[in-house]
Amino acid sequence: MAGLTIPPEIIASMPVRFGIRSPQLGGSTGASSQFWALLAQRGVVPAAPPANSDPLAMLRGAWPVSGTVTSTYGPRSLLPGETFHSGIDIAVPEGTPVCATGDGTVRFVGNTDGYGLRIEVDHGNGVTTLYGHLSAADVRPGQRVQRGQVIGKSGNTGLSTGPHLHYEIRQNGRAVDPGPLLRAAPKGSAQGIERISALPYGRAILQAAQRYGLDPALLAAMVKVESGFDPRAVSPAGAKGLLQLMDTTAAALGVRDPFDPTQNLDGGARYFSQLLQRFGGDVSLALAAYNAGPGAVEQAGGVPPYPETHRYVSAVLATWRALGGTG
Ligand SMILES: [Zn+2]
Repeated sequence: MAGLTIPPEIIASMPVRFGIRSPQLGGSTGASSQFWALLAQRGVVPAAPPANSDPLAMLRGAWPVSGTVTSTYGPRSLLPGETFHSGIDIAVPEGTPVCATGDGTVRFVGNTDGYGLRIEVDHGNGVTTLYGHLSAADVRPGQRVQRGQVIGKSGNTGLSTGPHLHYEIRQNGRAVDPGPLLRAAPKGSAQGIERISALPYGRAILQAAQRYGLDPALLAAMVKVESGFDPRAVSPAGAKGLLQLMDTTAAALGVRDPFDPTQNLDGGARYFSQLLQRFGGDVSLALAAYNAGPGAVEQAGGVPPYPETHRYVSAVLATWRALGGTG
């Protein structure tokens, strides 16, 4: 926090002074972004984002689709005339929903060259993302989009050797390797990871958590509370599988079979990582949004006053701690 010289005891009193509900003070990550935004609104701190000098960081851990990477960034000679691959290819069936990997503004939608139908999103600070070989675009230039929002459907248009998404990140007009941003740093201690891998579907839980930069113990706690590790579980409301995805949520995430453990974990983990991002890293709010919907959390300005949601958040947090989580 360069330039911020407010003494810790003043910081500690701020939630009381400003009536902020869930400030998440302390800990390794410090205050949540919502908290800083509130302080900035009140003129207490400058409006600049705290400790976030890497403009690419906003894309960290976000995948535009879930699938197998069939070609990485860098030199290659698969296609005639192409010697350097400026993005990564993720194999997905045609028509798979493609999500924006960060908040931004659509700056191009069109079909002009080897990319086929492509969408470009401007994330500010010179960072853009490109989604190529699409079969359909759901957005138009100038439209604001959020991280995780479906912007189009994957396809096989342009210079493409099979159905896949070409995903590219550019910084100041130059392509950069998306790989390190997709490989979020693994979280959790060695003992914690041993404990998770011994659980039912433990390996798949670890992989999904790593893919989206989540604490594996937190994801495992969600699976335990949601479904009791039963991939065939169906709730009275119709939520399905290990992470109890509703049909509409599953469809939006590109999950074709919610009873497939790997697909369900991947989709649920991706959705939860989007919610964490949306609620400034506040785990309680993201869990409440997973249970009651993000709209209900935004409307309530906190965990909504539903007994079931309060029970759910408490149960996951308790299970998370029991599994060695740091929350
Ligand atoms: Zn490609």
